[in-house]
Amino acid sequence: MGGNCARCGAPVKRPDRFLTCTIRCSLSQAEDRVGDGTYLERGHSYWPPEYVWEIAWRPAPGGVPGTGPKFHPVRISFVPGLNAVDADRAVEGLGEREALTTEQAVVAIDHLTHTLSGDPDSVHQRLTAVRRPSTSHPPTPGRPR
Ligand SMILES: [Zn+2]
Repeated sequence: MGGNCARCGAPVKRPDRFLTCTIRCSLSQAEDRVGDGTYLERGHSYWPPEYVWEIAWRPAPGGVPGTGPKFHPVRISFVPGLNAVDADRAVEGLGEREALTTEQAVVAIDHLTHTLSGDPDSVHQRLTAVRRPSTSHPPTPGRPR
């Protein structure tokens, strides 16, 4: 029990799952993580459910103490080495390239990360390649190899 706020370092009297001391700290932490791509606000319906997380999103209505914040589901990355925004782009890129539904692309990438588990660099490389299939080459007609 106890410990210090992940946000401001103040002692935590009643630890919540965000490891912050106050709702205010939970909110600003969530805001930052949405800002840097750690969390992604939309699209959680097709994301692997174990990688959907609820963040503190709005203060309690009327600022009534003790009622707790409103929560909002966000996506977090299920791909080692990628944040949520990059993981989403990887899913989209693979879906477009392989004509998969988003759900199928999620499954494919999830499988890839498990196949290559223990080697986040190669996962990262594969998915970066997926994301940018032809940045160094002009587009060529026909199916890319
Ligand atoms: Zn704090």
